Amino acid sequence: MSWINEVETPCYVIDERKLRENLETLAKVRAKAGCKILLAQKAYSAFATYPLIAEYLDGCTASGLFEARLGYEEMAQPFGRENHIFSPAYKDEEFDEIARICGHISFNNIKQFEKFKDRAKNASCGIRINPEHSTQEHGIYDPCGEFSRLGTTIANFPELPEGVEGLHFHTLCEQNADALAETLAEAEKKFGKFLGRIKWLNMGGGHHITRPDYDVELLVQTVRDVREKYGVEVYLEPGEAIALNAGYLITTVLDTFENGMNIAITDASAACHMPDVLEMPYRPNITGAGAPGEKPHTYRLGGNTCLAGDIIGDYSFEDKLSEGTRLVFEDMAIYSMCKNNTFNGIALPSIYLLRENGSPKLLKKFGYEDFKGRLS
Ligand SMILES: *Cc1c(COP(=O)(O)O)cnc(C)c1O
Repeated sequence: MSWINEVETPCYVIDERKLRENLETLAKVRAKAGCKILLAQKAYSAFATYPLIAEYLDGCTASGLFEARLGYEEMAQPFGRENHIFSPAYKDEEFDEIARICGHISFNNIKQFEKFKDRAKNASCGIRINPEHSTQEHGIYDPCGEFSRLGTTIANFPELPEGVEGLHFHTLCEQNADALAETLAEAEKKFGKFLGRIKWLNMGGGHHITRPDYDVELLVQTVRDVREKYGVEVYLEPGEAIALNAGYLITTVLDTFENGMNIAITDASAACHMPDVLEMPYRPNITGAGAPGEKPHTYRLGGNTCLAGDIIGDYSFEDKLSEGTRLVFEDMAIYSMCKNNTFNGIALPSIYLLRENGSPKLLKKFGYEDFKGRLS
């Protein structure tokens, strides 16, 4: 990885070869299962790689107007792919543009559908359902929890409204195919009477399809079964799985000192550049580093913001860290670039593409104007 010393830090590096490997896995699923697969842009919206993604997948899905515009401009329009959207509630002043650029629009409930349906005549409309079956412990990522605001429960879904062509559910997060099979069974129990009357069923994201232990066969079988049983077209819209392990965050150690333990300050910040480390929370892997105490030198790594909790985690290394040491955080293409911020006036990391020929190409560099530009 000689390119590590060639890049400016902090920076995200998208690994084109790994991205293609993921896309190849997804394309196989797509072909075997006979379903369509969309990129959920909220996890990954590095549009410089959309031409590559368009070679393998059916299009994009968005969580709001701006993502929908990005999908339209960078994928749907240039490559003739599909553009989908779901939002918990649409804004009146945005809806006409959404209806113009999205071929599929999912509504959070029947009331939202009724409100906008006349303006969505050119789109295929769906309703997001809540199967009320939790399969995971991350409360903030569980739309099936009590008082959920995402999706319509069967109690609030007496009849399939005329003009609704699809149903949508999204309840998983980093899960395997068994969780999908379970959720689908639950959705069928409750909403099965409508499944034979719709054109498409969107089974959301959270499918960790490109993880080595993912049960692709079970996914394929599950999709095939539901397609056959109800004659529906099936969509999957993973975000994570598309760029899983296909990117890095490279940082430089700025200072080291001791306060009861070794501490290293890096030019990458958990709070600004890898917010899921604090929000999920989780401990990202560093190439070559071990668990605390595993290797001779253990450090607590933190960013250069003034937030006391801007801690990335505790790691051990073969060699002492010193000013200028570079570290590689793994799996940093997803929920990073599209989620970062300039808290404390910290610069956004540059974005590089590690091309398949092994050399990095700078895609974008950010500066003071990007910080100032979102303030007034
Ligand atoms: C977040 C989300 C996705 C993508 O989820 P991943 O966990 O990144 O696969 C897909 N669809 C909807 C509606 C979402 O909210």
